[in-house]
Amino acid sequence: MQKFEPRDRKVKILATVGPASRSPEMLERLFKAGVDAFRVNMSHGDQDTHAQTIAAIRAVEKKFGRPIAILADLQGPKLRVGTFKDGKAVIRHGGHFTLDRKQEPGDENRVQLPHPELFGLMEKGQRLLINDGKIRLRVIRASEDEILCSAEVGGVISDRKGVNVPDAEVPIPALTDKDRRDLAFAMAQGADWIGLSFVQRPEDLAEARKLMGGKGALCAKIEKPMAVRRLDEIIELSDGIMVARGDLGVELEPQEVPPLQKQIVGAARHAGKPVIVATQMLESMIESPAPTRAEVSDVANAVYDGADAVMLSAETAAGDWPEEAVTIMDKIAVQVERDSAYLARVRFLDTPPDRTTADALAHACMTISDTVTIRAVTVFTGSGSTARRVARERPSVPMLVLTPSNTTARRCALLWGAHAVATKDIGSFEEMIAKGKRMALRHGFAQGGDKLIALAGVPFGTPGSTNLIHVVTLSGNELDHHDG
Ligand code: PGA
Ligand code: MN
Repeated sequence: MQKFEPRDRKVKILATVGPASRSPEMLERLFKAGVDAFRVNMSHGDQDTHAQTIAAIRAVEKKFGRPIAILADLQGPKLRVGTFKDGKAVIRHGGHFTLDRKQEPGDENRVQLPHPELFGLMEKGQRLLINDGKIRLRVIRASEDEILCSAEVGGVISDRKGVNVPDAEVPIPALTDKDRRDLAFAMAQGADWIGLSFVQRPEDLAEARKLMGGKGALCAKIEKPMAVRRLDEIIELSDGIMVARGDLGVELEPQEVPPLQKQIVGAARHAGKPVIVATQMLESMIESPAPTRAEVSDVANAVYDGADAVMLSAETAAGDWPEEAVTIMDKIAVQVERDSAYLARVRFLDTPPDRTTADALAHACMTISDTVTIRAVTVFTGSGSTARRVARERPSVPMLVLTPSNTTARRCALLWGAHAVATKDIGSFEEMIAKGKRMALRHGFAQGGDKLIALAGVPFGTPGSTNLIHVVTLSGNELDHHDG
């Protein structure tokens, strides 16, 4: 196993895998450059390719002995146009364009819209936005067979481009047949997180949860106005949240996204659920080895907001500079977290403890580490719940999460400030203290003479039993044992 230094930052990096990054060599390079979790995007590629990607990520995990989270992102009910005679066509500014139900390939006047539920639902004056909103159509007349539009903004349209209908409430199911197949595949492949796209209602999450059969964690992607309206209920039913700014900025107006980003990050942090800020973070790096100043600022601001993770999309999936994009994202995060005002900014959001013993102890970690010099909080947890409550407080010291569960360790790769280690279970208080010391030394969090906080629940292995906090001083002779 290769030695691996803990990351020099608390925020995590999630990178999307695609043609530019799915070779085993590139996956390893991206991990070394700073990736904590990989997103496998089910919107592209086939299951065989995804299975190879997942196996390659697990090989990196094994080589470096560090848990890596895999987020399988379901395509969801994304609406798309059909195909074109020449693969693409140009829609003229100010001209007319028709979406219809005819199977034949499209041209500059029409194309198939293979979603019967939209016909008879769209009304005069409503918008259809194509290709991330680059093409803007407005409905002149809609019938059961065709939707005639005027092209307010034209442009090049090509095969299977995405369509957003922000003005209509479409009775689309949360999971398409393809999503169901992909979800079953992802569970069989041991994906740690499932990304659910275009969530509209809390029931959408309940449905996905049922199909997951108690495995995996569920990340709700907030990219529909409806989801924003029911945000609290959706957060309540999710394990994590993604601010999916790409579609959100098309479904709403782009200028509505920054305040919403802060609101969603705040609500998720308040609930103690990991939150990811996603899309176009270093967009220009798809083609350029250096980001724009505005992009650097955008990543930095997500870190200052106290997000758990920042995400790369096309930059790592299909760009020319995947490794550079990760390296720069890592550097931005490290620099922000070195700012002496960083923690004060992150804690600008008030997250008072719930009236539970677990939260009382999580809060006590903060008080103790603000009073005496503590090098790390070691958290012994089965499900990861204690770790999430500590992370919710955004402590200044690193959190060493020790868990007998591989799944929990991997899931923590999207949790702010967590350095997780999957290790054998402990049976006694003495064993816990000895292991906490040993792991803190081994992973470079502490040296002889340093103090640690240990947090656990006794009896060990009882979920929801967090009730023990202990301040440990290292003597420095603890590294001589060799059990895991
Ligand atoms: P996507 O989701 O990349 O799967 O569309 C993220 C977003 O919409 O921002
Ligand atoms: Mn999206």
